[in-house]
Amino acid sequence: QQIIKVALAGNPNSGKTTLFNALTGARQQVGNYPGITVEKKEGFLNIDDFSIHFVDLPGTYSLTAYSQEELVARNFLIQERPDLVVDVINASSLERNLYLAIQILELGAPLILVLNMMDEVRAQGININSPLLSKRLGVPVVETVARHGLGKKMLVQTILKEAKKKPSWTPLILSYGPDLDPALEKMVTAIKQENNNAFPYPPHWLALKILENDEEIKGIILKENPKLYKKLDQIYQEVSAHCEKTLNTYPEAIIADYRYGFISSLLKDVVQKNTHAERIAVSDK
Ligand code: GDP
Ligand code: MG
Repeated sequence: QQIIKVALAGNPNSGKTTLFNALTGARQQVGNYPGITVEKKEGFLNIDDFSIHFVDLPGTYSLTAYSQEELVARNFLIQERPDLVVDVINASSLERNLYLAIQILELGAPLILVLNMMDEVRAQGININSPLLSKRLGVPVVETVARHGLGKKMLVQTILKEAKKKPSWTPLILSYGPDLDPALEKMVTAIKQENNNAFPYPPHWLALKILENDEEIKGIILKENPKLYKKLDQIYQEVSAHCEKTLNTYPEAIIADYRYGFISSLLKDVVQKNTHAERIAVSDK
């Protein structure tokens, strides 16, 4: 029996625990307020020759180091290297929810996107082009209504299919613009030279975290390799001063802007909101 390790990630209240319970038969508490799952919970689903191990991670909006939930979620992804990450998205609030998905892709994790709450989406007259979203992000997209168990079978099939591919951890490289890209590249080169694979993190992700001024990652690098830290910090100080002087902003803010820009241009093509009249026409069919 082959074990497939699957992490369930997502914003608070996106329906992770509901889906986890539906998949594993567990009875974890479903809450309608954020942050109910502070610890990770595990459950199993045996199917064919496979045993799918699900871990319900704490809900987070981001993978920064600002909260305990975010640290638990990202350290699990990095240290445990699950075979697949299933990001459960509240599809009726796609823009906000995709911010986390982008960061999971930056980390290089093999991702499956679950568009949950499709009942809400339909009720609101929103039309999501899932195949196009899947194509543009390069990951499978599965629509669900976790509350009613809809889409569960398709998700399990997709998990089995993706697990057979033996997905690798390759970051989706986004450009963060002409002000940051050269610094990122310099940092990646320095990390690759100095690091000798001492850290489990992808070099590109480490560089990004330095640019985001991530205290946890800075602390880890400083402790493990002070010489590398000094080099990276120097690059950071230079680019940071440049951003402040010429753009009156911080690298961290530019990175967030690029993520949101990427998402909003994606959603222009993927999402259409029907007018009230169109909605009535659709429901008449
Ligand atoms: P979590 O914080 O991501 O673990 O989310 P929960 O599983 O606790 O769900 C949050 C709320 O959303 C609960 O009230 C669920 O009953 C509800 N919910 C979950 N899935 C769906 C769905 O597909 N459609 C709708 N309308 N509500 C859902
Ligand atoms: Mg939960």
